Amino acid sequence: MAVSAPRPVSAVRLDGGRLAIDFANTIHDRFAADVEDYIATPERFVEWARRSGAIAAGETIDVSRLDGEGERLMADVRSLRDATYLLLSACIDGVSLAKGPLLVANHWLLSARQSQSLTEGGLIEMYADPEDLRLPLKRIALDLVDTLAYARASKFTLKHCANQSSCGWIFADTSKNGRRRWCAMQTCGTASKTETRRNKA
Ligand SMILES: [Zn+2]
Repeated sequence: MAVSAPRPVSAVRLDGGRLAIDFANTIHDRFAADVEDYIATPERFVEWARRSGAIAAGETIDVSRLDGEGERLMADVRSLRDATYLLLSACIDGVSLAKGPLLVANHWLLSARQSQSLTEGGLIEMYADPEDLRLPLKRIALDLVDTLAYARASKFTLKHCANQSSCGWIFADTSKNGRRRWCAMQTCGTASKTETRRNKA
């Protein structure tokens, strides 16, 4: 865990281009010795979910109803986040999706489908129970399926940030030339340029 005070959730970057990717990216510097988990508490998880759209505008989720459920909720959050990261990484590497993470993703997918219904307008709607603290996980599982499908259909290219020494973030490259290399130019891109300049000096 980081020693310094956790950064405000409002300052956490959403650079992945998809909800599921941003969820996998809620660990700052995944490969660093001292990782910072942006969503280490139920309150931060719910705040992040609201910011990223995993809780839609107008929906309320009441964290005060947790009643000792917090640890179990966070175990679910971490388990789906690890699975999401592994499945997206497998897609990037062009290998088969592994059974363990698939089991986790399929569990939340089933749970999501059970909360969905067809409306009079012919649209699929998610039933948002204010007591359902796992609603964001269901939305993320649904988005993960779409993200993998879009990547397979070449609507974008899933990539790992080129800063593999510490960052480990994933993003959907939607650039016209398909040459995006960094999760964000102002962080990893700039760090890499500074490094190159230092090596040349
Ligand atoms: Zn990066």
